Amino acid sequence: TYVVTESCIKCKYTDCVEVCPVDCFYEGENMLVIHPDECIDCGVCEPECPADAILADTDQGAEAWLELNRNFSANW
Ligand code: SF4
Repeated sequence: TYVVTESCIKCKYTDCVEVCPVDCFYEGENMLVIHPDECIDCGVCEPECPADAILADTDQGAEAWLELNRNFSANW
């Protein structure tokens, strides 16, 4: 799965949401999150993020954010 991280906080861009083929972005408290079970790992969103906030879960620094992405997207 891909994971939204810190740089997304207060970011106003939604380029990622527009390109995601499975609509698995959701609103977190102050940032967007990706539903880890809905993400199909296509990678399309990653280069579209102007804040460089999207990482693959295997990337350094992503793991700490995975739980937050899961928790906020589970509310939808
Ligand atoms: Fe959506 Fe693909 Fe990004 Fe996953 S990797 S959030 S499926 S655009």
